[in-house]
Formats: sequence, C-alpha cells, structure tokens
Amino acid sequence: MRISAKDLGWLAVDDFCPRCFWIERHAKGLPYQMGFPGIFSSIDAYTKNIVERYFQKNGKFPQWLNEIGSAKRIVSVKPSEFKVETDNITLTGIPDLLFERPDGNFAIVDYKTAKYTGNQDKLMPIYQIQLNGYAYIAEAIGLKPVKDLYLVYFEPPYKETYEAITDGHTNGDGFEMPFKPVIHKIKREPKEISKVLEEANEIYEFERLPKGLDGCKDCEMLNNLINMVGA
Ligand code: SF4
Repeated sequence: MRISAKDLGWLAVDDFCPRCFWIERHAKGLPYQMGFPGIFSSIDAYTKNIVERYFQKNGKFPQWLNEIGSAKRIVSVKPSEFKVETDNITLTGIPDLLFERPDGNFAIVDYKTAKYTGNQDKLMPIYQIQLNGYAYIAEAIGLKPVKDLYLVYFEPPYKETYEAITDGHTNGDGFEMPFKPVIHKIKREPKEISKVLEEANEIYEFERLPKGLDGCKDCEMLNNLINMVGA
C-alpha cells in the first residue's frame, strides 16, 4: 500500500472509520468525488517560493518566520525520493520546508492557509501525524536528526480586521491580500508513527470490509442506494 503522511493522519481523528479507510485504499476510484479547490495549493506554492527566494538572497528566513530559528541550508528533495518503504507500506509526502540548522539538526515546516485555532483545530491530530510522518521519512533517507516540527498558519483577513486594509493593497492590476503568519510547534513523536503505520497495515490487510461507525447516516444512505440499484 502507498499512502501519504497526511492520509495516514486520518487514523488519528476521533471519528476515524476503518471501513472508509479500507474502501478508499482498495477501490479503484470512487464515485461523486470532488477535487479540492486549487487555490490552497497555489497559495502554498507561492509561500514556498517567497521563503526560498528570500533565503537564497539573504541567507536567512523572512522576519515573520523568526520563531522557527535559523538555517544553514534549505534541503530540496524530489517527491520521488522523499519516501520510505516499511514492510507493506510506502509512506510518501513532501514537506513545504525542510532545512538544516547550523548545529546539524533538521527541522520541518508545513504551511496551512487557515485561521489558527490551536489545539481546537479538529484537523490537528492529522497534522501531528503528517509532520511526524515527514520526519520519519527524512530520517530514513539520512536527513537526521529531525528535532523540530512546525505548522505555519497563514490567516487571511477576516471581517474584524478589514479596517487595517488600505488603498495600498489595491493597484491597477488587482489587489493584494495580507496573510498573518501564526506559528505552532508540533511535538516529535517517532513511536506514534510506527504505531499508526502498523494499524493502517492491519486494516488494509483485512480480507473483508471492516465494520463501519455505529449510526453513520452516510452508510445507511449507501445501503439504501445499493438496495435500490440492486433491486
Ligand atoms: S460508516 Fe460512515 S464513515 Fe464508515 S464507511 Fe460507512 S459512510 Fe464511511
């Protein structure tokens, strides 16, 4: 099985459903799937570019990234090389920023375009696994030790902050939208990754569909649909 560090993170959410996971991993395509809006990956790619260009020119990160500390170099790895194969699983993914500190330790950063709500963020367990998964891969390919993991949220302006927007944000070509960076440190939990990988493999290896979540309305509707189509 091939799985991204982010998808592996779904195993950590409270209402994780092994049945859904099994179906997603075994099915060759699912009906009624909608693509994720491309705007978020465009913003991430733009941010990545800004940070890397600033670093190349100035030998340091922009001031608003001060909290993540200093770097000796930004490590660039091809997605095809950033993976690790365990018993039955190939874990993949590519961090937004991977760098080596002057003392030889490594750090990994992932960018999120969202309002920061700290540990209230329902997706936080996914991000914790995602970043620890990246660290797991990095160390497996020799980029070690990975000591620090960070999420950098870029908050778009929301209603209460509109007053801070000036005419300077508008020009003849369009407008600029300021994003406020908020940095959140993630705990390194190497053991957690081995545990989640084992769990994912166990579910994947089930010969039959595992049981779903009790009372899940979606499964009820799906069963109705199957009965209707099969009738
Ligand atoms: S129980 Fe719900 S979450 Fe699980 S497979 Fe069915 S629809 Fe998916």
